[in-house]
Parts: sequence; C-alpha cells; structure tokens
Amino acid sequence: MKIEHSNMRAFWLAQNLNKETRTLCERNGIFIPTTSTNPISSPDVWGDWKWHIKNRLSANQIDYFHILFPEYKTNQNSLNEYLKSYDLGILPLNLQLPSGVRKFLPKTGFKPEPDPYGVQRVHSVITHKEAGKKYYVTTHKPGYATFLPILGAGANRLYCPIACAGCYRGPQTRFNEPMSIIHADGTKESILIPNPVLQIKWLIEKWNKPEYSHVYDILLSGGEPMMLSNEIWEEVLLELKQAKHLLNFRICTGALFLGIPFRFDDKFIALLVKFRDETGVQIKLSTHISHPETRYT
Ligand code: SF4
Repeated sequence: MKIEHSNMRAFWLAQNLNKETRTLCERNGIFIPTTSTNPISSPDVWGDWKWHIKNRLSANQIDYFHILFPEYKTNQNSLNEYLKSYDLGILPLNLQLPSGVRKFLPKTGFKPEPDPYGVQRVHSVITHKEAGKKYYVTTHKPGYATFLPILGAGANRLYCPIACAGCYRGPQTRFNEPMSIIHADGTKESILIPNPVLQIKWLIEKWNKPEYSHVYDILLSGGEPMMLSNEIWEEVLLELKQAKHLLNFRICTGALFLGIPFRFDDKFIALLVKFRDETGVQIKLSTHISHPETRYT
C-alpha cells in the first residue's frame, strides 16, 4: 500500500473528505487519492460520536500506523506481534494532536499493573450472588464514604475506546482480560460483570441497608461509562433515584477531553438535568485530561 501523506492532519483529512469537498479540491487543481476515502464521511458526521468510534486508527490499519509513527518501523515485528492482543484505537480527534497523540501509542512489551488502585482487592469488592453465579457490584474501600462501581459494557467486559496507552484498567480495556477479585495471597478469582442496570439495582438494594448509611457518594466509572447508550443511562438513573443516602453523584469519564466530546449530546444532558431537578443531587464529571506533552514510556 502506498500512501503519500506524512502529515497526520493531511492523512486523516484525505481519508475522510466527502465527495463534495473532493470535487471542490479538484476544481482548484488539488487531487487527492480516492483509494482511502471513507464512504460514510461527510461534514455532518463530525459531530456524531459513533462515527468517531468507527474511525479509530486500529491494529488492522498497521500500514497507516507506520506512516504516522515512523519511529515504530524499527521494531515493526514486535509491534505487530504485540498488537495481536492489544486493542489499539486512536480516535480521529486525538490524531489531530501532534504531540498529545503519543498518549495513545502502545509501548511494546508493556505489562500493565493488574490493579493499581486496589479496586479489585477482596476486602474492597461488594458482590451479588444470583442463580449460583457471583457478580461484581461495586468497589467500596472500607471506611470510605464512596462507592466506586466499575460498569461493564456488555459481553462481561470493560471497554474503553479512548485507548490510553497507560490505561489504569489496562488488562481489561487494552488486553481484553476478564475482571477478577484479587485475594490477599495474590490469587485471582474470576467474577462476572452484570449489565449496568442490574448492577446499579443490586447496588442500591445493598446501599439502602443501615450498614451503608454513611456512604453518600457514588462515582460511576468503566472502561468508559459514556459508551452506554442514553436508553441504558435513563434506566441507570431511574435505579439511582431509589438510593436513600445519595448526596453526590459523579461520572468518571475520558470521553469529554480525550476524543469524543460529542457523546455529551442534548438527550444525555437532559437526562442529567432531569435527575438533578427530581432528586436535588448535584452531578459532577471527573474527567481524564491529556497534557500535550504526555508520552507513555
Ligand atoms: S480514558 Fe480512562 S478508561 Fe479509557 S483508556 Fe484512558 S485511562 Fe483507560
């Protein structure tokens, strides 16, 4: 495959120009190869977060990857091998950042720490048993006034399309490893992740018991919780309204500043406003932000 563009921005634009823009360019003597045109691209889709997810630079576009990041050419074989198990996916907006993009480049041979924040340690995990199966419900560090439920994205996995190379949930989001409880001796026990609506329902059932009355805060995280549809969010918020002790509600997200701000559409904002108006609970976003000089090495 021969690709002419060495500049990231030009490369991305050339892939995504729509037919009208291409015609305008041609009228002005600018001819862009059509082989890599994205057929669904148009100025209208720029604001559509699902389009951004579909157009991530992924491991099966390794030829493009090497043009954009020639420094990886020297260890091409080990990179190819690495990408077989690593979920590479650099979002179009993140490709526009000449230096910030390095936050999303994998370091070959990188072995993520399994649980850097201790959210899977046995003494901090609250579970639910149903039909002989054990499900993860939330993390609650003893003595803290916060629940930290890590939400699944279906298929019993944690998913985040933002793809930070140093993802704090790396084994689950970048290497597709299952969630587990980590016991005191270091052994791991596999655990199922329920669908998010059930998860919050089970959490509220436990939360409303007297032993948790000191907990007033909840921080929903993932993977990426903003990957849930508005319909699922609506159901999650309905369940959350049953919480007797909720004063503080936070959403931990990378979507806002790391590539898909468009996910915060009018319908989602309206859901949050309705929830706040009906419950009086303030809603806060805990957002991941990248520094332009970030480099994960
Ligand atoms: S935004 Fe957060 S969850 Fe997503 S890849 Fe980055 S660190 Fe991981």
